[in-house]
Amino acid sequence: MSGLVLLKSIIFYLEVTKIVNRNISQMDKRLEELPKLAEGVKKENKKYFANLKKRTPKNLDYVMQDIHEKEFAKTDCLTCGNCCKTTSPIFTERDTDRISKHLKMKVVDFKNQYLESDKDDFMVLKTAPCSFFDEKDNTCFIYDVRPKACSEYPHTNRKKFIQITDLTISNTEVCPATFNIVEALKKHFPFEPNKKIRR
Ligand code: SF4
Ligand code: SF4
Repeated sequence: MSGLVLLKSIIFYLEVTKIVNRNISQMDKRLEELPKLAEGVKKENKKYFANLKKRTPKNLDYVMQDIHEKEFAKTDCLTCGNCCKTTSPIFTERDTDRISKHLKMKVVDFKNQYLESDKDDFMVLKTAPCSFFDEKDNTCFIYDVRPKACSEYPHTNRKKFIQITDLTISNTEVCPATFNIVEALKKHFPFEPNKKIRR
């Protein structure tokens, strides 16, 4: 590699690092503000979703998928990781079988080491952040075999979205993308569904 090419590569690497660091510090600020922001619109969101349940638009799932995709095109989870830091997914039997196998552990040992039952008798992590979370770069040690709940989080693009509006409101306190998605949804359907349509 010539000196000039090497210099260009170093400058490129430094620029990329600068952008990544800037995005991380913007995200840190956002995560600090998020609980207060989410609390501030919680009542409004509850009312909005209660109304939306009464008159659910037929294309709601398609709209949600579109908003979800647009949001995650600009939100990089690797600058965030807040779900892995603060909440636990539910581990199904399939999840525990798959992950134990991957870790070459007996299922019973895996459960004893990492999981406990919550008040609803679901298997959840004993600790937060998640034991499989790498805080250095917000990655997951078991990404390829992670629980289904992790791969589907924050569930804003799932079918029959209207059934999980309470969960979505809770997720606005943890997930900045979910907060933005709900705000975008309110803009997309700014109607008051209870209002009679004037003809
Ligand atoms: S298993 Fe992986 S994706 Fe799921 S919470 Fe833990 S670190 Fe995050
Ligand atoms: S899903 Fe939400 S909380 Fe989790 S890392 Fe991505 S933006 Fe952050």
